[in-house]
Amino acid sequence: MASIFSKIVAGEIPCYKVAETENCFAFLDINPVAKGHVLCIPKQEVDYIFDLDEKAYAELQVFAQRVAKSIKKVCPCTKVGVAVLGLEVPHAHIHLIPLQSEADMDFHHHVKMEQQEFVDLAAELAKNFE
Ligand code: 5GP
Repeated sequence: MASIFSKIVAGEIPCYKVAETENCFAFLDINPVAKGHVLCIPKQEVDYIFDLDEKAYAELQVFAQRVAKSIKKVCPCTKVGVAVLGLEVPHAHIHLIPLQSEADMDFHHHVKMEQQEFVDLAAELAKNFE
């Protein structure tokens, strides 16, 4: 059965899309720990990120770098933090989280965002993705 993230890539489940390349896809985390929390995934459905072959792994990291640059431009932050957990969804993904302080990288704390805020933020991030 396809992962929830594969269904997002296929357009079967909606998302707030941020960026897409031939092999990678980025969208806003539905339960963000900070405004601008983005997930970057390979389209290929591999559970554990370190099981990706070298080429796919490198491609995902470079893609995440491009997305992080967009986040840095759009979201007020000191730096964009990076995390890989993968304990909930068995489809490799990189969390990108705008940080003002270390406390912003707290996966037990979530921020509330209205639907329109998700829409506007995703559009702004997409516009700044280079
Ligand atoms: P992890 O697998 O890294 O522990 O966490 C999975 C992440 O995916 C969580 O931050 C969760 O909020 C996010 N997530 C789970 N399901 C969905 C979904 O259907 N849409 C989006 N946009 N994010 C999701």
